[in-house]
Order: sequence, then structure tokens, then C-alpha cells
Amino acid sequence: MSLRIGIGFDIHRLVAGRPLVIGGVTVPFEKGLLGHSDGDAVIHAVCDAILGALGRGDIGQLYPDTAEETRGMCSLTMLREIMETVARDYEIVNIDINCICEKPRLSSYRADMVDAIARACGADPSAVSVKFRTHEGLGEIGAGDAVAAQAVVLLRKR
Ligand SMILES: [Zn+2]
Repeated sequence: MSLRIGIGFDIHRLVAGRPLVIGGVTVPFEKGLLGHSDGDAVIHAVCDAILGALGRGDIGQLYPDTAEETRGMCSLTMLREIMETVARDYEIVNIDINCICEKPRLSSYRADMVDAIARACGADPSAVSVKFRTHEGLGEIGAGDAVAAQAVVLLRKR
């Protein structure tokens, strides 16, 4: 049995005038994540963890923030497309995610995020874990000016 593990990290500024899309879920809030795509830091961290597990570079190479066709792109679509290139050879064992966000409190969206991520990956929801932390008021994340995410993905060769 061949296993591959990957790690992903992402951070986006939280600004007024953008919808908040995080973990594949749109959350009502007065600010949203700034980015060329929808700015979904959780999904970007998962994409990078999958790519990292396979030594395939990073999400910025596949979806450059200079490309017109990726402007405003739904990050779940990126995740689905990446998994389509992977799924013939590998399946997800599990995904573990930290979402570091001071405000809003996101734990009531956990089940929706797990479902959205599992569906995009073709994985069972029991294989996906999303955890939430604040940054204890420290730094830019603690001031509510940014949201960060970390992800670890374990893949198993089919
Ligand atoms: Zn990102």
C-alpha cells in the first residue's frame, strides 16, 4: 500500500465589499476574503496539500492569479478539477484542516464545509475534518484583517 502525505497553508485578507466564501460555504458577514478567485483560504490549503502529496507543485502554478479565466473562480471547482487528475491513481484517506479566523465564528458551518469538501474530493464526509481556532487577538488574523488555513491530506494509491 502506497501512501502520500501533503501539507497546505494559505492566508487571505478579510475586506469589506466581498462575499465571505470559506470552506466552500458562503457565510453571511460584512467582510469577505480578498483574492483573484473567491479567496477561499481553506480550499486553497486543501488543494496545495493534495498537490504537495504528489509533488505536483502548487495551486499558483495551476491557477495563476494573472489569468483572466480564473478571476472570481469558485475554489471548489479548482479542488474538483485537481481531484479529477488525481482520482484515477489515488484516493483520499483523510483530510484535516485548521481554519484560523477571529470573526465570524464559523463552527456552525462545519458540517456544510465538510460536505462541500468531501463532495468536491469524491471522499466520504467521515474522511474530512475541519477545526476552527481564533488567533487570540494577536496580529492581523487576531485583528480580523485576515483568515488563514492549514491542511494535511493523506492519499492512498488505488
Ligand atoms: Zn488562496
